[in-house]
Amino acid sequence: MTDLSQARQALKQHFGYEAFRPGQEGVVEAILGCRDALAVMPTGAGKSVCYQVPGVVMDGLALVVSPLVSLMGDQVRALLDAGIRGAYLNSTLTPGQQSTVLRRALDGAYQIMYVAPERLADPRFLEFAQRAAIPLVAVDEAHCVSQWGQDFRPSYLTIGDFIAQLPSRPVVAAFTATATARVRADIVRLLDLRDPYEVVTGFDRPNLYFGVERLDPKRKIARIAGYALEHAGDSGIVYCSTRKDTDKVHAALLEAGIRAARYHAGMSAADRAESQRAFIADDAPVMVATNAFGMGIDKSNVRYVIHHNMPGSIEAYYQEAGRAGRDGEPSTCLLYWSDGDVSTCRFFIEQESGNEELTPEEADAVRASRRRLLAAMTGYCHTTGCLRCYILEYFGEQQVPSACQPTERADAAEASGTESCGSKSFSRPEGRHLGLSPQSSAPEASSLTLRTTGDRGFSCGNCSNCAGEFESMDVTDTALAVMRCVQELRGRFGKGMVVDVLRGSQNAKLLDMHLDEAACYDTVNAPAAQVKEVIELLAAGGYLLITEGTYPVVGLGPRAREAAEEGFSLSMKRVLRKPERTRSAAGGSHVFGSSGAPANDADPELFERLRTLRKRLADEAGKPPYIVFSDAALRDMCAKRPATDEEFLEVSGVGATKLARYGEAFLSEIAEFEQGLANGR
Ligand code: ADP
Ligand code: ZN
Repeated sequence: MTDLSQARQALKQHFGYEAFRPGQEGVVEAILGCRDALAVMPTGAGKSVCYQVPGVVMDGLALVVSPLVSLMGDQVRALLDAGIRGAYLNSTLTPGQQSTVLRRALDGAYQIMYVAPERLADPRFLEFAQRAAIPLVAVDEAHCVSQWGQDFRPSYLTIGDFIAQLPSRPVVAAFTATATARVRADIVRLLDLRDPYEVVTGFDRPNLYFGVERLDPKRKIARIAGYALEHAGDSGIVYCSTRKDTDKVHAALLEAGIRAARYHAGMSAADRAESQRAFIADDAPVMVATNAFGMGIDKSNVRYVIHHNMPGSIEAYYQEAGRAGRDGEPSTCLLYWSDGDVSTCRFFIEQESGNEELTPEEADAVRASRRRLLAAMTGYCHTTGCLRCYILEYFGEQQVPSACQPTERADAAEASGTESCGSKSFSRPEGRHLGLSPQSSAPEASSLTLRTTGDRGFSCGNCSNCAGEFESMDVTDTALAVMRCVQELRGRFGKGMVVDVLRGSQNAKLLDMHLDEAACYDTVNAPAAQVKEVIELLAAGGYLLITEGTYPVVGLGPRAREAAEEGFSLSMKRVLRKPERTRSAAGGSHVFGSSGAPANDADPELFERLRTLRKRLADEAGKPPYIVFSDAALRDMCAKRPATDEEFLEVSGVGATKLARYGEAFLSEIAEFEQGLANGR
């Protein structure tokens, strides 16, 4: 039998899956063929399978290096539940337990062992590793090795040394969900990957619905509570930017009768652990948290992620939102934002002295880079184009989702490498496409080109913009007036003053400074809120630059000159109707197929019964429910309604071990349900 067919058999037997996903197979094949590998795949793509299956097939002990100590217990439980002999070694174990694990490992008791990177520098562990047969070292979250990544961990730098000290070099495979070209190069170099097989799969997550809505801060909580109530029983995460907001939203949800947990760095370790436990066990289906929560979570049945505030970058947003729908089932990602969120982000960028080890020049470069990340994020909030396309193009993805029609690649700014700062879709379809390229000082050197198109040229059919929940309004004239005004005022004033001057206000300060004599005074006849939004749009596109400090001012941005060129145009979003309604119709029901996925035979009542059964069995066994079965597996059961063991094995996500463990309980629940139906007819 070839290695690959052995691998496929292991996939079926342990994980219950018929085939590898695109991307997985190549990695597995490379590893089994003793070639190093680097896999860049988005969250939910199935990275674990890429090293777990070879770990099972290869002789000896596969080591998995992971920074997520809190996750290891669950990961190993999932392995055991799939009939794979797994173990972990980290500081949560007592010294006695650690010795036992090492001793048993030398006896060949395990196929896969998770270790924290710090462990590799421990002489005792090295001694163990030199005696054990280790065919594979898999490095999870491999971007942690790079200082250019968001999550640099110095301990990752010891991995290379560790491997070099092993008597025979194992295959080394690195995995990450976020990697620009620069980080990728670091991974290869610092982990000393040898001629690695590289795969970068698409970053598209077709099962995720993306929605953006600008909301008055006062209305956000009610909307979130409404959503959670409407989707009661579904698991969701609500991200807030501050601890205070987290507490507020959490209290409001509890008051609304939603079983919500709470997580932020201001809570005690014990409280945080309990919150996390309750969330994972589905005792508290909703988690309200700051971004401190999530790194250690691979709960697959998170059905929605709502952002109560706008994060500071698309990277952060996509990572957090991407925690929804890891099981591939339709899930929803909503971003509620307000102007205040943007100012808060700006404030932090300007205030943060950040890392004290940085020289002033380095600190400047970091700030410039973070301003650029922020501009791209606000661009996402403002864009009138497809949200999915916006994200994918941000990550430099060549192909756009299949439903989207590509337009021409961006323009001169990209070709010439002009310094520029953010982009979005505010040109008309016939107009110029706006592009941007990263500054040379940017830490992330990958392409930041955003190919954009005005109005709704693209359509993924599964985002709030494609669903046409707004209309766009041409504000080119206002935009040009704003540009002229900022130029005339020479970047010395804040947003409010620019608006006042343009609208011909009589405010005393303005008159004191004789700004009523400016050429641009009283040249715009539009509501103040609208002019403000145009300013934000221009800032998001890099035409203006807003600094937020003690005296926030509006100045010209790196792309200011382009606004003066012919063909420049700007349009702005105006919400037409409440997105929730459309969404419920388009992608809200997670039991029935939603947009994109054809409806199947999943009966909501049966799904609910199976979900309850899963929860009971999980509680009895002291495991998280999603480890027993994913939502996807439950739904496939609803669709197939198996009556025999053989039929049960046909369900995606059911392997031999799961059949033995849970087959009887689920089969009889399904039979009972069918019986009830028959009697009722
Ligand atoms: P990642 O680590 O890339 O975020 P996971 O390894 O957690 O992703 O996998 C995400 C989900 O996809 C899990 O529920 C996993 O069981 C499922 N999965 C992985 N590989 C396959 C496959 N070949 N077919 C079907 N489902 C799969
Ligand atoms: Zn779309």
